[in-house]
Amino acid sequence: MGSQKRVNINCPICGENATKIMCLEADIIDCPICHEYTIGNGLKTPEFSEYDKSVLKTYCYRYMKSDGEHRPKPITKETKNEIINSINPPRTLIDKINFVIKYLADSTKFFGDTVEISRPHGHRLFFCKDEEELQNILEAIKQQGYITGNSVSTLDVIVTSQGLPSRKIVMTSKGLQYAETLFSRTNSTQCFVAMWFDESTQQLYERIQNAVTGNPKADKNSNGYGANYSIMKIDEKDHINYIPAEIISEIKRSKFMIADLSGYRGGVYYEAGFADGLGIPVILTCSKEWFEEHTDEHGNKFNGVHFDLKQKNILLWEENKLDEFQRKLVARIGEVVGFN
Ligand SMILES: [Zn+2]
Repeated sequence: MGSQKRVNINCPICGENATKIMCLEADIIDCPICHEYTIGNGLKTPEFSEYDKSVLKTYCYRYMKSDGEHRPKPITKETKNEIINSINPPRTLIDKINFVIKYLADSTKFFGDTVEISRPHGHRLFFCKDEEELQNILEAIKQQGYITGNSVSTLDVIVTSQGLPSRKIVMTSKGLQYAETLFSRTNSTQCFVAMWFDESTQQLYERIQNAVTGNPKADKNSNGYGANYSIMKIDEKDHINYIPAEIISEIKRSKFMIADLSGYRGGVYYEAGFADGLGIPVILTCSKEWFEEHTDEHGNKFNGVHFDLKQKNILLWEENKLDEFQRKLVARIGEVVGFN
């Protein structure tokens, strides 16, 4: 890295005062709100439209950590669109309204519970351009009778300073009922991924992600080729005795599941069985190596995929043939649930 030069700049994504740490290949931006992310410099400097900014603002605010963990690959001219597409933002304005309703319902822990949405950064939770857009959405939801609560009706709040009181929102029974229909599987566009999250499966996950979220109209040989669904993965510790509630509810909400059997993780088998029992289509995949009986470099013996599952149509992958795997997986998704 060598000596690093730090300069004060406005965050290219959100405009707040931030620090740029200049590095050879790409600069690191340290923004108090977006946290840390890496951005291409020189000829690789990306340009952001208003839409790009609202997507990345939400992504950085919600998913990045202040210690630089979960930093996405550098945002450059080349990677910008790929990163934005992989985030899967709401596609239409109605999707955006529904996204807010789902968040409110999800955050409601008991009937009458108050959900707080802070100012002036609350809009960053929902891919909104600014606080005014969020305010307009909340206003529309309130008119439907889905929410009640203070400060939702005050459109006159001009959001310029820190420390404004948060919005306090309560979902009505009508709102919760509506949210239930949004979560239901018939409307779902979600694919749940159950797999062994390990360094050795990192590339596999990227291909699964491409295959699920990519565009069916893209060139079949490109990375962007996919079935146009959203993806849900929950990084999990091995759970043997129970499935965490979060996983159960996300599986129930999913249109289909992709379960990769490599590594023989108990949790993956459990989740695949759980989904199967609910009638949710499960696409099984496995590395060729793990599928068969084998012995690793330490002399440990592995039995291969369980006999009962071997009878099923399992899509096998090899590390050096992941392009082919992605194409086949897209085709399989098409057969099982169709393209979205
Ligand atoms: Zn920022």
